[in-house]
Amino acid sequence: MLEADDHALGHVDVAIVGGGMVGAALGCACAERGLRVAVMDGQPPQRVWPAGQVDLRVSALSRASQRLLERLGVWPRMVALGVSPYREMQVWDAVGHAEIHFDSAELGEPDLGHIVENRVTRLALWERLEAFAAADPERVQLLSPAAPALLEINGEQGRELIQLQLADQRRLSAELVVGADGRASFVREALGIGLETADYAQRAIVANVEVAHWHRETAWQRFLPTGPLAFLPLADGRCSIVWSADEARAEQLLALDDAGFSAELEVAFDKRLGPILSTGPRAAFPLSRQHALEYVRPHAALIGDAAHGIHPLAGQGVNLGFLDVAELIDAIDHARAKGRSLGSLHSLRRYERARRGENAAMLMAMDLFKRIFGNRNPALVGARNLGLFAAEHLPGIKTLFIRQALGLGDELPTLASHSR
Ligand SMILES: Cc1cc2nc3c(=O)[nH]c(=O)nc-3n(C[C@H](O)[C@H](O)[C@H](O)COP(=O)(O)OP(=O)(O)OC[C@H]3O[C@@H](n4cnc5c(N)ncnc54)[C@H](O)[C@@H]3O)c2cc1C
Repeated sequence: MLEADDHALGHVDVAIVGGGMVGAALGCACAERGLRVAVMDGQPPQRVWPAGQVDLRVSALSRASQRLLERLGVWPRMVALGVSPYREMQVWDAVGHAEIHFDSAELGEPDLGHIVENRVTRLALWERLEAFAAADPERVQLLSPAAPALLEINGEQGRELIQLQLADQRRLSAELVVGADGRASFVREALGIGLETADYAQRAIVANVEVAHWHRETAWQRFLPTGPLAFLPLADGRCSIVWSADEARAEQLLALDDAGFSAELEVAFDKRLGPILSTGPRAAFPLSRQHALEYVRPHAALIGDAAHGIHPLAGQGVNLGFLDVAELIDAIDHARAKGRSLGSLHSLRRYERARRGENAAMLMAMDLFKRIFGNRNPALVGARNLGLFAAEHLPGIKTLFIRQALGLGDELPTLASHSR
């Protein structure tokens, strides 16, 4: 059992392990509510980078995510640091002729979302947390670099406390500990929460490329039998690519020099934007699906990639994480309104019920997409072409689909909803 001593950091309402995009967003939402919150991360955010340099890690942020970030007061800073709107989306199948096109104008929306460097989102959130901490250091603690070494639940049933010991011996106790510490979550492990996993045997290769023709602020995606290839428009005219490829193909592509890679990329992308003029450095991420079997325990919850890891083909990972934040905050608000502990399982189950099923459906949908589009069976190729054709030409289906993807649906948690 952990003991009190001068390493004590005190007691907080919410201790968040992991101050990535998702954990930092939850930290801001808690701080805004006047809760005592500690956010810890092994790595401080990147604060400076060369002008004009775009990071390899970018995310397509939905309208629902944008709303949440606006409500947390960080969107203007993100815009100042650089966001790239995309107004259209073009998706097509490499085998067959089906295409589907989405246009924000058809929805009366200014855009379909924004491509944003992960470091921009994280820095804006982190700066907001720092402003809260500067205004009231007793209430908001930012611990970085810091990592937990031990997590214990102590006390009698109904009055338990979570205690965290950090690797540097500092200790804190919390009403609620939140694991926002990514795919290899320490918190999930420490709580003994199981994980359902499936290896996609694919890697996502990312790079920023210069193309001959303007990208028309369009997000492009071509489904190849070896995996989907996305070209995401950047404000400076370049595209950020995410090329998911089966292991053998990925290995081959990574071994190529820039000229060889550009040549393969041009063919794979159907030369939709003309020749590839240059490609920057490449990085690759192994792809797997993972889903925590439980999201909550008494006094503990998992959010973001700690709870679910999804194939990047529809760019949903962090968007789902932000919806977790919004839903967990609704559960916290509910607990406070009822005078319950923030860690009460009764309140936390609200969060789990709202998010686990939704996330499972999205994980399954991505699995299905990957399987359907990764298959060369002529019957399946015919069926998927018919499906895309129908979706393109039947009024209503396309609008419904895109409204859902954009986060314009009605049943969203408060921080992400369009009406409040
Ligand atoms: C190629 C690719 C493309 C993608 N594109 C998109 C996209 O277009 N749209 C989208 O929505 N999503 C996308 N994603 C997914 C998205 O990047 C993730 O869902 C998102 O980063 C998850 O955020 P997170 O904060 O939950 O976790 P992470 O980003 O993993 O952050 C976890 C944080 O916890 C910290 N941490 C971890 N362990 C500890 C510890 N023990 N102690 C202290 N701190 C710790 C880490 O330092 C990190 O800061 C993509 C993913 C990939 C691989």
